[in-house]
Amino acid sequence: MSQPAGNKHVEGRGWVVLKFGGTSVENAAALRRVAGLVAQQEGAVVVVSALAGVTDQLLAAGEDAARGRLTAAQQSLLVICDRHSVMARELLPEASAGPFLTYLQKEFEGLAKLLHGVAALGEFSPRTADRLVGSGEVVSSRLLAEGVFAAGRNAAWVDARQCLVTDDAFGQAKPLREATNSRLRELVLPLLESGRVPVLGGFIAATADGTPTTLGRGGSDFSAALVAAGLGASRLEIWTDVDGIMTADPRLCPDARLIPSISFAEAAELAQAGAKVLHPATLLPATEKNIPVYVRNSRRPRSRGTRIVAEGAEPVTVRAITSKRGVVIVEARLRRQADAHTLGQILKACEGYTLDLCSVSQHSLVLLADSKLAVRELERTLRDVAEVQGENHKAIVRVFGDRIGRHTSVVAQIFHALAGIEVRLAAPGEGERNLTLVVDEDQAAESVQRLHNLFFPSSDQQANEVSPAGAQ
Ligand code: ADP
Ligand code: ASP
Ligand code: MG
Repeated sequence: MSQPAGNKHVEGRGWVVLKFGGTSVENAAALRRVAGLVAQQEGAVVVVSALAGVTDQLLAAGEDAARGRLTAAQQSLLVICDRHSVMARELLPEASAGPFLTYLQKEFEGLAKLLHGVAALGEFSPRTADRLVGSGEVVSSRLLAEGVFAAGRNAAWVDARQCLVTDDAFGQAKPLREATNSRLRELVLPLLESGRVPVLGGFIAATADGTPTTLGRGGSDFSAALVAAGLGASRLEIWTDVDGIMTADPRLCPDARLIPSISFAEAAELAQAGAKVLHPATLLPATEKNIPVYVRNSRRPRSRGTRIVAEGAEPVTVRAITSKRGVVIVEARLRRQADAHTLGQILKACEGYTLDLCSVSQHSLVLLADSKLAVRELERTLRDVAEVQGENHKAIVRVFGDRIGRHTSVVAQIFHALAGIEVRLAAPGEGERNLTLVVDEDQAAESVQRLHNLFFPSSDQQANEVSPAGAQ
């Protein structure tokens, strides 16, 4: 890209990291809107996801190829490539559209070869999956960089795989923070200092020796937080398809209200509990460096968004309701009385899975795990220690509020509202900041809706449109 004239820039902690999710760049109109938002921001570093749906499509293509359906897999690649070409033609001036289309063609030829290899081996390893799915972010970030340039700013595409260094846990790689920070200082900072707008793909990274990795599904938020922390940014803005963090998932509860301000700790717990609007790891780097985070709607940039800072809002009885599906209840009935050794053996057998809400009595241990946990295998491993049973297709519903479990009248209202729904387990969660309920997966949505109606009746809706919280 050649250099358009005269960008002002902000020094040091004035950098602002703007992250845009897949729905914010799903088509040419959305991408143009985003490029316009970026163009207005001084000192911006941009992190962007793959176009909405592309990561799933690439994964499916890899799986198809491994199962011998190479033609279908190649067809999916063509569809994805076409979608980017159409957007480029619509968005970019001819001078940059031409070279971009040539680049796109080459990138997808490389991916087609990769799928050939997958089909030949009949295996789609996590390592290959990272190489394949990461290309969604590679091409979207290149396209957005061109779009920002077309909007009049001197954008520079930066290969995130050269900046974010991770271990080799393919599919769910862990960042190596020191190495990442020094690469960011080396590769991104000079661009910012010379007034350019660096544009990086989220989600993608590489090992120290350059093998591509990814940070796990939804990981672009985490990428953006790592970039913000590494550069000592003054603000991180997560731009998405809803107004901010809401009192419930607006897809389940269209009446959900905006939470204008929330603490790092509370927001992190909501994300852990299933509020998909933020990747659960996002707030850690931001908290460490005390970087305020804003969640905002790229389709309604005038909406004030949610501000996440060290000190959140006043405590409230109920802040939000979340749900997380795909949970299995594992009960281990111990063959002898519980002792630390036996419990340790059971927990060790569950190594590698995220565990939640463990309860222990003299003769049993009950825990919640991701439904990927192989209960049959656990049963075999622990045969001498316990009789293991799993109940799958459960969901965790959490009601967040200040010391909620202590307000017996509130707890009574919760159970009253859930009349007729089987609640398999109920317990106060971490730091007494939530009440955790386990229900059948197919009753999760209804549970959230009933609880949301109880605590946030739709008659006294808040107005969301005031001045932007994140604006300076
Ligand atoms: P992006 O592509 O921008 O990363 P995501 O799909 O990952 O967006 O996250 C945004 C989605 O998160 C929303 O469309 C919404 O359905 C969902 N979501 C779940 N819980 C909440 C919540 N409490 N507040 C806001 N959004 C939520
Ligand atoms: N594109 C990746 C995903 O769909 C990462 C992200 O969107 O945050 O999981
Ligand atoms: Mg996301």
